[in-house]
Order: sequence, then C-alpha cells, then structure tokens
Amino acid sequence: MKEVDYIVVGLGIAGISFCEELENNHKSFIAFDNDKVTSTKVAAGVINPVVLKRFTPVWNAKLHVSSSILFYKQLSKKIDSKLFQETSMFRIFKSIAEQNNWMVASDKKELEEFLEPKIIPNNYPHINAPFGFGKVNSTGKIDTIALIEKYKKYLQLEKKYQNNTFDYSLLTFKNQQVIYNNVVSKKIVFCEGSSVNTNPFFPKVAQHSKAAILIPNKGEYLTIKSNDLKLDAMLKSSLFIIPLGNDFYKVGATYDRDDVSVQVTTQARDELVLKLKEIITCDFEVVDQVAGIRPTTRDRRPFLGSLTDNQQLFFFNGLGTRGITAAPSLAKVLFNFTENSIEIPKEINIRRIYKW
Ligand SMILES: Cc1cc2nc3c(=O)[nH]c(=O)nc-3n(C[C@H](O)[C@H](O)[C@H](O)COP(=O)(O)OP(=O)(O)OC[C@H]3O[C@@H](n4cnc5c(N)ncnc54)[C@H](O)[C@@H]3O)c2cc1C
Repeated sequence: MKEVDYIVVGLGIAGISFCEELENNHKSFIAFDNDKVTSTKVAAGVINPVVLKRFTPVWNAKLHVSSSILFYKQLSKKIDSKLFQETSMFRIFKSIAEQNNWMVASDKKELEEFLEPKIIPNNYPHINAPFGFGKVNSTGKIDTIALIEKYKKYLQLEKKYQNNTFDYSLLTFKNQQVIYNNVVSKKIVFCEGSSVNTNPFFPKVAQHSKAAILIPNKGEYLTIKSNDLKLDAMLKSSLFIIPLGNDFYKVGATYDRDDVSVQVTTQARDELVLKLKEIITCDFEVVDQVAGIRPTTRDRRPFLGSLTDNQQLFFFNGLGTRGITAAPSLAKVLFNFTENSIEIPKEINIRRIYKW
C-alpha cells in the first residue's frame, strides 16, 4: 500500500494548481488523469483582466491576474519550460462611441491600471480597424500544451502521477482513510472539469430547480498560418487572434452548450473563418482545429470545498471561461480550507448549490 496525504483526480489547471499548493506545503500526493476531455489543453491561455465586451474588470481581476502571472513564472523555472509570455492585447474599436466608452472606462478607479487612456492608431496593413485600438495592460499568454505535458512528465519522474481513468467504484472510506486500489490517503480532491458529471459523489441537478449544476460549454479554436499578417500583439474583436510565432495564429473561440462532444465541427470552423475575414484582409490557411469543454456554472463562480461534513472529499471545479487566470489563487483558498479549516467564501463555496 502507498500512503499519501492526498489523491488528486484530474490534471487540468485545477489539478495542477492544487498539486503545486501541496508541493509547496510539503504534502504527499498521487494524481490521476486520463487525458480525455480537457479544457486546459485547448484553452487560448490568455491572461486578461478586463471583460472586453463591456469594458468592466473581470471578477477579482487584480488578485487573480497578479497571482497567476507569478504562479506561471515560478512553475516555468520548476519544470524548465517557458510557460508565460508577456504579450500586448489590443481591443479593436468598432465605432467612435466605443472609443468614447473606452476613455470613460479608463478613468475609473478599478480599471485605470488596466486600460491605456488613449486611442492607438492601426499600423497593421492587413487588419481592418479604422477606429484604432485600446491597449489592455497586465496581459499575457500561457502555453497550455507545454504546461500539461511538462507538468505530467515532472510528476511522473517524482512517481506522483498515474495516466489512467480514476474508477469511482473502487473508492472507499474507512476509519478516516480514503482507500483506492493500492493507495491509502487522508483526503481526495476531485478536479475533473466537465467530466465531474460522471462522478457519483457530485449531484447532477439542483435540489429545488432541477437545473444542471455544472454546465459544459464547448469551445473550438482554429490555428491558421498567414505569411502576410505580421501581427505581434493579441487582438480582440468578435474573436481573439493570438500570435504563436512563425506566422501561426490561434483564432477563436466558439461557445456551445448543446454539443458536449470533443469532436471538432465544420459549423464552428465556418463561424470562425467568417468572423476572421471581417478582421483580416490577407490570405490565410486553416492548419488545425481543436475543441474543449469549459466547466461553467450558472452564477459564473467556481465550486470549491466539500458537499458534506465528511472532511475528506473535496471539489475544485466550475472554473468556467477564465480558469487559467483564476485557478492559482483559488487553489490557495481550497488548501487553506482542507488543511487549516479556513472557511471558503460563500460566493465560491460549493455548498451554495443546496439553495439552488
Ligand atoms: C476553447 C477554450 C478557450 C479558453 N480560453 C481561456 C483563456 O484564454 N484564458 C482562461 O483563463 N481560460 C480559458 N478557458 C477556460 C479554461 O480552459 C478552463 O476554465 C480551465 O481549463 C478548466 O480547468 P479544469 O482543470 O477545471 O478542467 P480540465 O482542463 O477539463 O481538466 C480536467 C482533467 O481531468 C481529467 N479527468 C476527468 N475525469 C477523470 C477521471 N475519472 N479519471 C482521470 N482523469 C479524469 C480530464 O481528462 C482532464 O484532463 C478556455 C476554455 C476553452 C474550452
């Protein structure tokens, strides 16, 4: 029997951030991941403090952005991979009214550090932006593929990772112990993203409304190659265009609550290509397409903590559309609860679902 402090199920950004919290606090663990349905691996990996549709700050922008940038920089050193790249972000203005709204927003206390208070003219010959851009500060992107692959390799070398599906039917609780196959643990943390809907310990629908608790939201991204685009910043309009280097760009994303498969669709490809052609005026070729499932919640807040008084079984889920940014600081909140009994704020405590 292998004895550990924690079992962690799922190694997307929720699982990775929690494992890091465990390592930093000298707790032993074993993590399981089956690499099947992922959100983290296909995410654009954009760190951005502003909702660029309405020019408002994202939830907990200051804390989440600063802690995530620090987290990815430190993790880069640890796993020997350049995960974080500081990259400028420009919001394309569609009208003079939008320019004015930007200037008003940039004067607000909660946004002044994030929005440059000026209109930047468009000097890219193949970008359609006659009203120019607004520049967002404190932005960057994470190489999520490197993050997952390198982190799993790191854990494998440390003998802390098993690449297989966690079988819930083999899990038992006995005398304050969590037992799974040949592992005995003190606690278990489920970080399965949208696949939590197959976890028998997680309720599928709300008690009162019978509405779904964890809502899968499919997103697709294209990779394009364009020799002439020569874009060196991330652009946001009706979609994101993200430079990857060597004339490759990521373009997306779509949102679909009805299709929960991870298969890519021609419908998404057509939608993205149509929108892209409104923004860029040069030739491009679609070279790849990926799909992932975002684990979203109806109040757009994550699920952290335990559903019962059994202080052995915990969830870290509901990271929604901005998990890459939010997960590192949320992992600290969860760890403080599992180890130090520091109460999780109501807004993000999974127990709020009992009122739904
Ligand atoms: C197209 C797209 C673009 C996005 N862009 C951004 C962005 O730019 N910035 C941002 O901050 N966020 C972005 N997001 C959101 C972000 O990806 C998610 O919030 C976050 O990745 C969710 O992480 P997670 O760890 O909860 O779930 P996941 O990444 O889905 O990880 C769950 C893991 O658990 C594993 N698993 C599940 N069940 C089991 C089991 N029984 N046994 C073993 N393993 C299991 C799965 O295989 C998976 O690897 C984007 C999402 C999508 C889909």
